[in-house]
Amino acid sequence: MKYSTLFGKTTKEAPHDADSPNARLLTQAGYIHQLMAGAYTYLPLGLRTLKKIQQIVREEMDAIGGQEISVPMLTPKKVWEDTGRWGIDVLYRFEGAGGKEMALAATAEDMVTPLVKSFTSSYKDFPVLVYQMNDKFRNEPRAKSGLLRGREFNMKDLYSFHLTQEGFEEFYEKSKGAYLNVYQRCGLDAMVVKASGGDFTEKFSHEFQVKTEAGEDRVYVDKESGDALNREVVPEEDWENTDKYDIHKTIEVGNIFPLETRFSDAIKFTVQGADGSPQKVIMGSYGIGPSRVMGSIVEVHHDEKGIRWPKAVAPFHVYMASLSSKDEAVQARIDEVAAGLHDELEAAGVEVLWDERNTRPGSKFADADLIGLPLRLVVSEKTLAENAVEWKERHEDEARLVGIDDLVEQAKQWLAAPERLTSHE
Ligand code: ATP
Ligand code: MG
Repeated sequence: MKYSTLFGKTTKEAPHDADSPNARLLTQAGYIHQLMAGAYTYLPLGLRTLKKIQQIVREEMDAIGGQEISVPMLTPKKVWEDTGRWGIDVLYRFEGAGGKEMALAATAEDMVTPLVKSFTSSYKDFPVLVYQMNDKFRNEPRAKSGLLRGREFNMKDLYSFHLTQEGFEEFYEKSKGAYLNVYQRCGLDAMVVKASGGDFTEKFSHEFQVKTEAGEDRVYVDKESGDALNREVVPEEDWENTDKYDIHKTIEVGNIFPLETRFSDAIKFTVQGADGSPQKVIMGSYGIGPSRVMGSIVEVHHDEKGIRWPKAVAPFHVYMASLSSKDEAVQARIDEVAAGLHDELEAAGVEVLWDERNTRPGSKFADADLIGLPLRLVVSEKTLAENAVEWKERHEDEARLVGIDDLVEQAKQWLAAPERLTSHE
């Protein structure tokens, strides 16, 4: 893709409430644009990254047997009344035509439980593992930190339905592995943390937490046992106890919940067991916010010049800058080589953002660092004199030359190689 045709450009502007690196850098690099606090437009670069994260989540959910559905985000009062949640703080409630009361989906147990009830009649229909990935709406009192806390945000929510506690527990453990795969593939080092089960269960729920300064959560890692706990489940008298705990500022990037029969009981959802008697339905819910994951990646992977995307979620793999020359023949040669490499790399599965603007090298390099694609290539009069292209990875300080004939093969190998990511905080 040619940079000159890309919709959305780098800018010095940042939202006045850009209180965190992800809000500032994603805005300045042209990934997102704030419509109002807590609501962002995804520009082409931003949407490409969000979709890559969503695809990773989708692959991992499919791998544990999840089936994707899509539930309306526009929902009737009745489903929330049935589960006793019409009054919850974060729900956006409003009246539609004819005074019909509705809410925007803040989560979806309330819609999915009756849905599954209507499609199951016997024990043979279980387990059921369904998920969706769409926007959720929450009237958060404080929308802040860019994509970390939105009022409209993207969420993957999976719901599992089981007839036995063992079946539930087996899936619950499996889901932890799938979640850790998601974060690892996205370049995040997530801890599994015990948290409160809310009003659903006496048991713990489990959160996936990533260390970052912008995080609003506090994780306490027990120095002896290695157990990681959300502060909400640490006794208050131990909150300052640094002898017992290592305390970290974190952001929650996922949360899985044993729901027991909280929602199935609410709508009297039982199923005929093998012996003909009615059986209770045990549920779990499993959430990840792909948009918050995107913000968290930027929180962890950036430096003073801009973003440093892991390869798997970068909107493009390569930023190729072709530098201008006053000599027409040289310029023609630069354009020809760059166009050829662009097409060959794309054909090899290496995605290229080609900066062919007639601007100063310095401003191209500044944009390259800000946008943060993992590999920068430069085609210029100087490099062509060596029959080469300049190659610099985003985390490297020094550039080197790679022969033009060798470049596509090297880029393919680079893309396929596992990545060693270091947090830059
Ligand atoms: P938090 O405690 O941070 O408010 P939560 O516990 O209310 O989050 P869940 O209901 O467990 O969140 O939602 C599942 C996932 O959705 C979270 O782990 C997070 O990744 C994401 N998420 C929740 N609220 C938001 C939000 N306001 N903006 C962006 N992502 C969110
Ligand atoms: Mg949570």
